[in-house]
Amino acid sequence: MSFEELRIIQVDNDCLFCRIVAGEIPATVVYETETTLAFRDIDPKAPVHILVIPRAHHADVAALAAADPALAADVLAAAGAVAEAEGLSADGYRLIFNTGRFGGQEVFHVHGHVVGGSPLGPMLSIA
Ligand code: AMP
Ligand code: ZN
Repeated sequence: MSFEELRIIQVDNDCLFCRIVAGEIPATVVYETETTLAFRDIDPKAPVHILVIPRAHHADVAALAAADPALAADVLAAAGAVAEAEGLSADGYRLIFNTGRFGGQEVFHVHGHVVGGSPLGPMLSIA
């Protein structure tokens, strides 16, 4: 199956991040591969705040890992590449997958938050 066919099959028009993947909603893309996309968070919580997603729709990181472990690995590798490209690797950064309601997940297309650029403290928030 070609990449284009895969994209058409797996775009969910009700999903905000699927619409970003499809180019229907603009985003500031900083990194992309055949299977992943990374773009700046619209409401950054740190000097660098980038979202890394698989192009294919999976609701959360557990669902992604269960359905397609190779794609989960692609997302982790993309997060590392983004951190390197943004100059975060030397001082460190945080990679967060909010999961479910109690985890604060608002967009149910799995995304890793790459946050850094300043000291983040022991936790972002447990409030
Ligand atoms: P979460 O709460 O883990 O589901 O994170 C969702 C993230 O998506 C939040 O940090 C939002 O600021 C971010 N967000 C929402 N809409 C957009 C958008 N159109 N472009 C970029 N980031 C967005
Ligand atoms: Zn989606």
